[in-house]
Amino acid sequence: MTTFEESLTKVLGAKTGKALATHLGLETVGDLMRHYPRRYAERAELTDLASLERDEHVTVLAEVEKVTVRPMRDPRKKLLEAVVTDGRGKLSLTFFNKPQWHESRLKPGTRGLFAGKVSEFVTRTTRKRQLNHPEYVLLDGSSDGETIAEFAGSLIPVYPAAAKVPSWQLARCARVVLDTLVAPEDPLPADLRRRHGLIDLADALRMIHRPRDRGEVARAKQRLKWDEAFLLQAALAQRRFAANALPARPRPLRDDGLLAEFGTRLPFELTEGQREVGAQIAADLARDHPMHRLLQGEVGSGKTVVALRAMLQTVDAGGQAALLAPTEVLAQQHHRSITAMLGDLAEGGMLGGSDKATRVALLTGSQSAAARREALLEIASGAAGIAVGTHALLEDKVQFADLGLVVIDEQHRFGVEQRDALREKAGDTRPHVLVMTATPIPRTVAMTVYGDLDTSALTQLPAGRSPIATHVVPAAEKPNYLTRAWDRVCEEVSRGRQAYIVCPRIGDAEGDEGDISDTDAGAGSDERRPPLAVMDVAPMLADGPFSGLRVGVLHGRLHPDEKDRVMRAFAAGEIDVLVATTVIEVGVDVPNSTVMIIMDADRFGVSQLHQLRGRVGRGRLPGLCLLVTDAMAGSPARERLDAVASTTDGFELSRIDLEQRREGDVLGAAQSGRRSSLRMLKLLRDEDVIEAARQEATALVAEDPSLESQPVLRAEIARLLDEERAEYLEKT
Ligand code: ADP
Ligand code: MG
Repeated sequence: MTTFEESLTKVLGAKTGKALATHLGLETVGDLMRHYPRRYAERAELTDLASLERDEHVTVLAEVEKVTVRPMRDPRKKLLEAVVTDGRGKLSLTFFNKPQWHESRLKPGTRGLFAGKVSEFVTRTTRKRQLNHPEYVLLDGSSDGETIAEFAGSLIPVYPAAAKVPSWQLARCARVVLDTLVAPEDPLPADLRRRHGLIDLADALRMIHRPRDRGEVARAKQRLKWDEAFLLQAALAQRRFAANALPARPRPLRDDGLLAEFGTRLPFELTEGQREVGAQIAADLARDHPMHRLLQGEVGSGKTVVALRAMLQTVDAGGQAALLAPTEVLAQQHHRSITAMLGDLAEGGMLGGSDKATRVALLTGSQSAAARREALLEIASGAAGIAVGTHALLEDKVQFADLGLVVIDEQHRFGVEQRDALREKAGDTRPHVLVMTATPIPRTVAMTVYGDLDTSALTQLPAGRSPIATHVVPAAEKPNYLTRAWDRVCEEVSRGRQAYIVCPRIGDAEGDEGDISDTDAGAGSDERRPPLAVMDVAPMLADGPFSGLRVGVLHGRLHPDEKDRVMRAFAAGEIDVLVATTVIEVGVDVPNSTVMIIMDADRFGVSQLHQLRGRVGRGRLPGLCLLVTDAMAGSPARERLDAVASTTDGFELSRIDLEQRREGDVLGAAQSGRRSSLRMLKLLRDEDVIEAARQEATALVAEDPSLESQPVLRAEIARLLDEERAEYLEKT
């Protein structure tokens, strides 16, 4: 009798248990059972060897073609080379140890699974791919009787494996565990399973690990997807239900306050979208339950002014508003632009300030003690109607007089827990919450990651915006294109415009990870040169193509005061070219900048590139974005860049981005536990399951809010939230 909670060490022995824990993070029987095969190989079908990528860790099913043993320089040693084939392509396996033993097993015609890292061996005439010292298991070699028993039918599960724990060892472990497993009680309610034709958990686990045919795999997958979708949606439904039951102080619209005054001073007409979303938010704020709204808007669609109007409505109703930004640069910029937009309306209590005026406080982690004390005081006394800041606003020390609205800008950097931390600050009632993101999210992802929020979208850009033209600059193939790019910058500057040069890395320090956040810079081969660094590129440009221009530098390691000074100087036009890391990725708004050149653009993610280029073309001037890369035409990296160049539709790009990431990474940025709770579910492809699970979960929670009738489900949700919380604590 084996249960999910049992440790693998106990069931499989100390050695195996330790290997699974160390290399794959699998500790309990449940972990192993939830470690599903990535795909299934057909016993009769060999792996297409042409599809193997260099440096990839692979498990291939192939047939031994020939074996040769050669002497080595050291006369005591021999080298064995076996060539395996899929019928067309070939792959070479090399062994330096025990060549006789391998020779006796690897008879031509024998089929086996071979696992290892693909390396490439280039001679003048050929390109040979090989696996050095692969692990292997033979399928029809009678010498190894145990092997065949691992696989129940003609389907061979291929697991996400590690070099030290090959796929077939996982299959073996799964078999051992399944033989004695007593599956836990089913978390999916029985009537739900009946309605949707889902098999029970015990069957699903057997069929996913030891399927007899493809039909079993399909049924198991469908059921296991429901596990994930339903668990998450039930957790979110509970959260929505609880939030809706909470009291909040209504902050109804007034037509004789700050907001009205501000309206008469706006230098532009609000777009239709801004007005519609604004009305929605105004109505939310007037309710006596807290608003929980997600505002999605394309880069540059004008979310800030929508948020500011909501904040002013709150202040008019006697409350305070907090605006939380993900970076110091952005917090400082918001503080500057809000203060500027409000003019004397932000000079409350000062000589010459309007009598309706309030104050806008700035709170960041690295202010001087005096500035901080003053900000804290203004926030606590209520003198500041608006507080702008970074995570520093979340600290316990920060006390609001009457926090009515929390606005979170660029949500993808904040987790649910952080939202909760701010909500706590409103005392007995809950503040209204508005979350803004410029990362357009496909609907299913929004339902999952932000499933506890109502959503609205700003799809329209303010009138008069010119589109951003984006081009890929293949620096390796066409070096003169790069020269031309520098010339373009000089031309723009000579017309009084400004430019950004973005690099993936800061440089000039050991173990420098730069400000890379969600790029894929770490992936791929170790042999690639390190990405270009701000500290190298800036002097190179200043002394070369940009000599005579005013070149500034901005990155995450600068002192916050220095960051602020640089951004102010850039905004004031005192810097022509800003060489920066992704610190400028979100929200930075300097309408006079017209060109952006992104170096080593292939090192950034698709959505990140889209965010970055949103920094240009923000005024009436057309924007130009050049993606400089060494990636070769036709390579996957190059295709991603071509996709970014081909469209400015953020939704389309976020789809492309998502398709290329593991689902766990998507959630990882926002709210999943460390071991992503999504293994089987594909957010893009499983829209129907997510949709149906959401409906079921909402109905269940409406009827039984605390899930008394579903103890197993309730326990699973508690575990999920625990993981989330642990993750949050680790990060802070
Ligand atoms: P984002 O949605 O990316 O945060 P911002 O709020 O920073 O965009 O707005 C981008 C720029 O557009 C700002 O300079 C802002 O003042 C300007 N803007 C906002 N709304 C309008 C509008 N209705 N008409 C013209 N310009 C606008
Ligand atoms: Mg913004």
